[in-house]
Amino acid sequence: MDTVSITQNDLNALRSQLIERGLALRADMQAATAARQAHEAGGEVEDLKDQAAEWLEAEVQDAEVLRDIHELTLIEQALQRMGDGTYGECAECGEPISMKRLRALPAALRCATCQAAVERR
Ligand SMILES: [Zn+2]
Repeated sequence: MDTVSITQNDLNALRSQLIERGLALRADMQAATAARQAHEAGGEVEDLKDQAAEWLEAEVQDAEVLRDIHELTLIEQALQRMGDGTYGECAECGEPISMKRLRALPAALRCATCQAAVERR
């Protein structure tokens, strides 16, 4: 079983990766919020067509922000699991998630098999 266990070095590298990604996401979200506020503060709406375009734009931004929030949640959960020592265990079957998968997706909650099963549901 030792071959699949995560070394402290791996854990440190993954943790930095998660923290860095988390910071980038927060910066993204702050930029989106600031842009929105600046936009909303910016005067009258000229006509209906412009207004529709603005709503559409706001919706696209919302979808992006929601994605960011979702990813940030996963990252925070992963960091928490690192703290309590359950990081790298699949949330479904409890088997270790492969290092290859964690390197590609440090916030992965499930092993590849279980993730595929969940996505098929
Ligand atoms: Zn699993």
